[in-house]
Amino acid sequence: MNELSRPADGAASAFLPVYEPDLSGNERRYVLEAVDSTWISSRGAFLDRFEGAFGEVVGTPHVTAVCNGTVALHLALHCLDLQPGDEVIVPSFTYIASVNTIVQAGAVPVFADCTAEDWLLDPVDVERRITPKTRAIMPVHLYGAVCDMDRLCALAERHRLEIVEDCAEALGSTWRGTHVGRFSAAATFSFFGNKTVTTGEGGMVMARDAAMLRRLRIAKGQGMDPDRRYWHVAMGFNYRMTNVAAAIGLGQIERLPAILARKKAIAARYRANLANHPFAFQEMRPEVDSSDWLVSLLLPRGANRDAVMERLARLRIETRPVFYCAHHMPHHERPDLVLPVSEDIAARGMSLPSYPALTDADVDRVCEALVEVVQRRG
Ligand SMILES: *Cc1c(COP(=O)(O)O)cnc(C)c1O
Repeated sequence: MNELSRPADGAASAFLPVYEPDLSGNERRYVLEAVDSTWISSRGAFLDRFEGAFGEVVGTPHVTAVCNGTVALHLALHCLDLQPGDEVIVPSFTYIASVNTIVQAGAVPVFADCTAEDWLLDPVDVERRITPKTRAIMPVHLYGAVCDMDRLCALAERHRLEIVEDCAEALGSTWRGTHVGRFSAAATFSFFGNKTVTTGEGGMVMARDAAMLRRLRIAKGQGMDPDRRYWHVAMGFNYRMTNVAAAIGLGQIERLPAILARKKAIAARYRANLANHPFAFQEMRPEVDSSDWLVSLLLPRGANRDAVMERLARLRIETRPVFYCAHHMPHHERPDLVLPVSEDIAARGMSLPSYPALTDADVDRVCEALVEVVQRRG
C-alpha cells in the first residue's frame, strides 16, 4: 500500500508539523518557580541563569537577553551608530526581519546574492556591492548552515566594515569550531517557538566586547544609566526579556546537547533516504558544523512546489516554502535587480518536518511521501 492510498485520518498518518517545541525538561518547573517567586517581569534569577548558560554554549559571557530576535537585530544595528545613507549588505534570500531592521536603524539595505551550494551570502557578490557608503555586512546563517566567515571577515577587515551576524537559525552551529556570532561586533539569536531553543518569544544579542555589551544593555532598557535611575544617557527602547521567558529558556538550554544530537540524526536520515532522488540539499562547507535547524531542499526544476506541498498536506505532512526574496517585496522592491541564485532557490526550496520528537519512522514516512508526490509530477 502506498502513502496516497492510506486513509487521511488513519493511525498510520498522524499529523507531522514542520516544527513543535520539546518542553519535556525543567521548563514547566522553572516557570512555576518564577511565578511563585512573583519575579515575572524583566528582573530575576532566571534571566541571569539563562544568560550565563547561553554564554557558556556560545563561548562568551558578553550576552544580553531581549524579547525577540527582531528587536535583537534592531538593537545590534542601532548600537553601530549607522548614519542616514549608510549601507548594510544583506542577502535578499533571508527572513524579512534581517532587512526591515536595517531600514529601522536608519540605513539602506543593499541586497547581495547567495551561492548555489550553501544558499548563503556569496562573498564574491558582496565584494562587488561594497561602496564608500558601506558600513556593515550582515551574514545570515540560514537553516543552521554557516556563511563563509573566512572570506566575509577578510572583506570586512580590508574595507573596515562591521559584521552583524543574524544567527536566529544557527544556535549550536560553528565555523572551524568557533560558535556563530563570535565574528561580529554584535550578533543576534531568536527563541521563537520553532527555533532550536525557544522561550515562546525571545532573543539574545552577543557582543564582541564589554564596551559593546554595556551599550546594548543600556539601549535595551530605555537608555537608562545603570547607576542612576531615571537618568537616561542614550536613546533607548524597552527590549527586555521577562524572567518567565528566561525560565523556559534555561530549561531548554540545559537540554541543548540532546536537542542538537537528535536534529543531526534527523537531518542525516533525510539525506541518506533521499540521496538517490532528484532533490538538492543545502550543502555545508567543510568548515561548518551545522545545528541542522530545519532540513531544507530544492525540488527538481519543473516541479510545482505549491502542488507538492498541497499533496503532502493531504497526507498530513506539513512543509513550508523557503523565504521569498526581499528585493521582490513591495516595500523593499528593486525593480532592476536580478539575483539569479537567490531567485532560483526561493522558487524551488522547501523545508521538511525537523523537530526533535520526530521519529525515524516519521522521517521515512515524509521521504516516501515526497518521492511519491514528486514522481507524480507534483
Ligand atoms: C526567526 C528569525 C528572525 C526573527 O526572530 P523573531 O524572534 O521571530 O523576531 C530573524 N532572522 C531570521 C533569519 C529568523 O529565522
